[in-house]
Amino acid sequence: MLLSQTSFAERWCPIGFNLLRNMESSTDAPMKGVFECKLCRLTAPYSYYGQKPPNTHSVVLLEECYIIKDPFTPTKDKFLILGSQCSLCKILVCIGPECSLFYSKRFCLPCVNENIEAFPWEIHQDLDRRKAHAKSQHRKGTESKM
Ligand SMILES: [Zn+2]
Ligand SMILES: [Zn+2]
Repeated sequence: MLLSQTSFAERWCPIGFNLLRNMESSTDAPMKGVFECKLCRLTAPYSYYGQKPPNTHSVVLLEECYIIKDPFTPTKDKFLILGSQCSLCKILVCIGPECSLFYSKRFCLPCVNENIEAFPWEIHQDLDRRKAHAKSQHRKGTESKM
């Protein structure tokens, strides 16, 4: 059944079919656009937006994300998540600890702070840890292990 559908598509819609195939198999897919975090202004070109990164057959993400192929590894199934949309205010935020957190959905930190009572104590603790971490990083200077 699938086979006959494929050959049907190939015969009657060669352009559309090739387009589809290229999108699925190309490892050098053109960048789709530029992701920009509305909080820290991080910008990076992303290659995919969604829950199933290309070339990662078994990976399904918990949220729709902006994804870039990992430029530091030659393996094509490595990818980096740049960020995603805050589920409350809909701004785009990166996944950096100063910009957003994931608690069943993505929340930007301004939204978390506004609705902090709605989050469990683990999140409160996590935020405290982040603040402490950010401070200690400041003291150390600009050196980063990333
Ligand atoms: Zn950010
Ligand atoms: Zn938000």
